[in-house]
Amino acid sequence: MPLVSMRQLLDEAATGGYGVGAFNVNNMEQIQGIMEAARDTASPVIVQASRGARAYAGDRFLYHLMVAAAEEYPEIPVALHQDHGNSPETCISAIELGFTSVMMDGSLLEDGKTVAGYDHNVAVTREVVDYAHARGVTVEGELGTLGGIEDGVGSGEVHLTDPDQAVEFVQRTGIDALAVAIGTSHGAYKFPRRPDGQILAMRLIEEIHRRLPTTHLVMHGSSSVPARLTERINAAGGRLRPAFGVPVEESQLGIRHGVRKVNVDTDGRLAITAAAREALAADPSDFDPRRFTRAGRDGMRDVVAERMRQFGQAGHAGDYAPRSLHAMRRAYDRQAAAGAAA
Ligand SMILES: [Zn+2]
Repeated sequence: MPLVSMRQLLDEAATGGYGVGAFNVNNMEQIQGIMEAARDTASPVIVQASRGARAYAGDRFLYHLMVAAAEEYPEIPVALHQDHGNSPETCISAIELGFTSVMMDGSLLEDGKTVAGYDHNVAVTREVVDYAHARGVTVEGELGTLGGIEDGVGSGEVHLTDPDQAVEFVQRTGIDALAVAIGTSHGAYKFPRRPDGQILAMRLIEEIHRRLPTTHLVMHGSSSVPARLTERINAAGGRLRPAFGVPVEESQLGIRHGVRKVNVDTDGRLAITAAAREALAADPSDFDPRRFTRAGRDGMRDVVAERMRQFGQAGHAGDYAPRSLHAMRRAYDRQAAAGAAA
């Protein structure tokens, strides 16, 4: 199966009433772990790469690993998404490379740190939507800012998404998916205590979904940071402070109210680190790197498969045939023509 547009995956998820995990990758083992989990659970999946991932692996390596994944797993619909594009140039280069979806994060300036003004956000996001939709590629925008910093992205400030502004933002930009800031953070140290309704503004998701029923909502920073993984890391020589992530039940609540894409990065990192540390500690005389890279890959597979079942995407890989990016482009053209006529 060729790489599929993220819009199609999310449209199908909305019809089926489930969420789709978007898992971050930097190397071959992470991609393989995700694809094995997708096969084991018969799940459609979003694989995403940050700017840091593209710099680490190299654009051509990353793209061709994904092409290999699509060839090896023809029964799995898989979208390749640019996570946190910091400028139209980053998004355009991803599209030229072959990504089927991009995030234009105009909530921050190009440095990925300074909070941007609303008009800047609208302008850069609209520019990316025009370029992407002309090629059948999906666009995710962000309104409001998350806490925390990951891969150098983040202002450290939290600005929750305003529902009125969200409606106007979607109308002015034409995005397919909207990342909402509801109090989640990037990274492992999301909350000082287990989060509840006081910390996570779930009512905001309900309100935004009511006002924008056809816009797919995205939850960033949604790793659950399982204690069993941090404990395994520390037992094998690591030194992580106690940390609280987003409980899976909160993500499931979001999915019931219009969240279709759930971003998970930290849980994969923790699973790989736990498994690799244990493998290295188990036999200090061994120096075959496959011992710990294979363990890491299996760890990634297990945590991703668990999330796929929890988000509800499991079992849905065979529900639909992929639409080409060309067909997606024609659909956007028709939508624009209908909008102009109205
Ligand atoms: Zn994010």
